[in-house]
Amino acid sequence: MKVAKFGGTSLASAEQVRKVCNIILSDPERKVIVVSAPGKRYKEDIKVTDLLIACAESYIKNGKATKEYEAVVERYSEIGRELGVPEEIINNIAKDIYDRFSLYTGNNEKFIDLMKAAGEDNCAKLVASYLQSQGVKATYVNPKDAGLILSSEFGNAQVLPESYENLKSLKDIPGIVIFPGFFGYSKEGDVVTFSRGGSDITGSILAAALDAELYENFTDVDCIYSVNPSIIPNPCPIEEITYREMRELSYGGFNVFHEEALIPVYKKGIPVRVKNTNNPNAPGTTILHTRTNITRPVVGIAYDTRFCCINISKYLMNREIGFGRKVLEILEKEGISYDHSPSGIDSISIVLNQSQLTSEKEKRIVDAFRNKLHVEEITIMRNLALIMVVGEGMSQTVGIAARAARAFAKVGVNIEMINQGLTEISIMFGVKAEESIKAVKSLYSEFFE
Ligand code: ASP
Repeated sequence: MKVAKFGGTSLASAEQVRKVCNIILSDPERKVIVVSAPGKRYKEDIKVTDLLIACAESYIKNGKATKEYEAVVERYSEIGRELGVPEEIINNIAKDIYDRFSLYTGNNEKFIDLMKAAGEDNCAKLVASYLQSQGVKATYVNPKDAGLILSSEFGNAQVLPESYENLKSLKDIPGIVIFPGFFGYSKEGDVVTFSRGGSDITGSILAAALDAELYENFTDVDCIYSVNPSIIPNPCPIEEITYREMRELSYGGFNVFHEEALIPVYKKGIPVRVKNTNNPNAPGTTILHTRTNITRPVVGIAYDTRFCCINISKYLMNREIGFGRKVLEILEKEGISYDHSPSGIDSISIVLNQSQLTSEKEKRIVDAFRNKLHVEEITIMRNLALIMVVGEGMSQTVGIAARAARAFAKVGVNIEMINQGLTEISIMFGVKAEESIKAVKSLYSEFFE
C-alpha cells in the first residue's frame, strides 16, 4: 500500500486535478491520498492558503472580508465547475468557509489556523467528490475523525504520539481515502496547522502510521536536483538520496520537501519518492535509509541566506566553566533558538536565523553579554549565507574540504566560517549572502562538472 501526497500546483486547476486522479487510479496500491490546497497556476498567481490568510487578517482587522472571501470561493468554484462536480458541493465549500468567520473568538492565531486549514479541507472534499462522480469509491476523511492529534502550537504544530495508533483505522475504510494535509486537531479540539508546506508532514505521518510500502510525494519537478535549478540550469538529477542527506539539504534551503516531513517515515524506514504530477513517468528521486550506488562523494549543494552570526570574545574564556551555558541562557531568555556555535579558544560565534534578532532583542542581548558576562568584544554579522556541501560518500574521500576551499578561492569568496561534525555527512561554510550564488556555482562546477 502506498500513501501519495499531492502538492498545491498539482491541484491548482481542474486540469491538474484530473491529472492527479489519473495518477491515483493508475496504481491500485495508491490507497491513501493527501492533498494540499490549490496552489499557483502561474508564477504571479496567489495560493489559496495565502488568500485564506488574507481573509483571516482582513476579518480580524475590519470585521469583514468580503473581497478576500469571494476570491477564495471563486478558486474552488472555477475548479469545481470545470470538473463538473454537483453544484451542491461548491455551495457547501462556500458555506464551510463562511461559517468559519463566526468561530472567531478574539484569539487571532487560532482563527488564522482555522481559516488556513479550510484550503486543504475543502480541496480534499472536492477531489473526493470528483472521484465519486467518476464512479470511483473514494471517501473524504476529516483529520479529527481519524484522530490526528497535534500540539496546540498554532501555525507550528507537532504530531502527538497517540495519533499513530488512531490513524491505523484508515486501513479499514474501503476504497480510496482522500485526506486533507497541513492540519489536525489539538486535544482541546481546535484546528491547528503545521508550519507552511506542512502537507508533506501529514503524508509522512500517515505513511508511518499505516506502515506504507512507499510514500510518494507528487510535486511539479521531475526530481530533486543536486543544486537549485534557478541558479544552475539543468543540474545533475538525484536518483537516490539518504534521509540524512536530505535532512541536511532541506535545512540548507532545498524546499522540495518539508524539513520536518522526514521524521515519521525515517523512524519506520519507509522510502519516499518525489515525483512530478506533470510527468509521472519520470523516475523521480527516492529518499531512503541507505544508498547503494555512491558514485560521487557529494550528492548536493544547498545554500540559504537567512542567517546572522553573533561573535563574542573574552580573554581566557576557555578557563571559565559554564561560560557557554550562560551565553545560551541569555539567548534562551529572549526565546531565540541558535543553530550552530563554532568556537575559538577565547571566542564563540553563534549562528542563528536572523529574523529572530529584532533590534530590541539585539540590544538586550548585547547589554547582557557586556554586563553579566563581561565580554570584551561583540560583533554581529548580518546577511550571512550558509552553504552546505552534503554527501554520505565524503567521509571515505580524502580532499573534499580542500576541493571546496579551492572552489571558494577560485571566485574570490572569503569563507567566514566552517563547520563539520564527526559524522562528516556535510561541511557547512558561512559566506556573505551577496557572495553565496557565485560560491555555489563554483562548488557545483568543482563537484559535478
Ligand atoms: N497549503 C499549505 C501552504 O501553502 C500547506 C501545503 O501546501 O503543504 O503552506
